[in-house]
Order: sequence, then structure tokens, then C-alpha cells
Amino acid sequence: MQQRTLSMIKPDATQRNLTGKIISKLEGGGLKIVAAKMLHLSKQQAGEFYVEHKDKVFYNTLIENMIAATIIVQVLQAEDAIALNRKIMGSTDPETAETGTVRKDFAISMQKNSVHGSDSVESAAREIAFFFNEDEIFN
Ligand code: ADP
Ligand code: MG
Repeated sequence: MQQRTLSMIKPDATQRNLTGKIISKLEGGGLKIVAAKMLHLSKQQAGEFYVEHKDKVFYNTLIENMIAATIIVQVLQAEDAIALNRKIMGSTDPETAETGTVRKDFAISMQKNSVHGSDSVESAAREIAFFFNEDEIFN
């Protein structure tokens, strides 16, 4: 069954002109882009997006990194898109990310790890609605 997930290309990657290379990996791995936009998040938006992490020690750094420059947000569609996107992204820490993943090839650190991807059906629904109206998503 076709599924949708939210992807973000984070400021550390847009600042290093890695947007195209990252999109290449996502599309090459079988994910279809069905919505896309460029944004510069406000502190309030970033804080709300990452509200699940508000009590973590890394929260403030995470927010600062997310508002440092523009981001690209995309809705990606495929069979099992949520897990497929996470696989193409690689693990949160680039040190342990698998060969050929976005984070292995491009991330600088755990804090500057180049991409975000939804981690469940529930978070995908919340995160897609956070950035896109239904009429901005195509098939
Ligand atoms: P993921 O992005 O892989 O889903 P999490 O949802 O756990 O990871 O964390 C959100 C983001 O917060 C990560 O992508 C990373 O940038 C940052 N982060 C997570 N854990 C840490 C940590 N221990 N130290 C610093 N930053 C972290
Ligand atoms: Mg997460």
C-alpha cells in the first residue's frame, strides 16, 4: 500500500549546497516527491515541530540549528515510505550510519545530520499537515 512521509533537508545541508545530492538519493531509492517547498522556520515553528523533544538536553541546540538557514520540506510517497526514507537517511548518528546513506555521506554530526524523516504513521500524518494543505500534495 502507498504511504506518505515527511522529509526535511536541514540547514546544515542546504548551506553546503547538498540539496540536489540528497534529493537524488531519496528519488534513487524509490521515493516519489509529491509535494515540496523551501522555508525558513521561525523559532516558534521549530519548537512546535520538535515538541516531542522539549525536555531533552539537545533541544535548544536542535532548534538553533533548525532555524540557522532555509530548509526544504517534502512529502515523499512509496510503498512503506516511512521505513524506506529512514533507511535511505541512515541512523541519527552519522558515525554509525550505514554506507551509502544520506547521513553517512553528508552529515557533520548528530546535531548537524542533514535530514529529518517521520518515524511512524502518526508522526507522518502530523508532520505532513504541519507544512502542507491537502491541495498542495500531488500524486
Ligand atoms: P531522528 O532525526 O533520527 O528521528 P530524533 O528524533 O531522536 O532523531 O532526534 C531529532 C534530532 O535531534 C536528530 O535528528 C538530531 O539532529 C538531534 N539529536 C537527537 N539526539 C541527539 C543527541 N543525543 N545529541 C544531539 N542531538 C541529538
Ligand atoms: Mg525523529
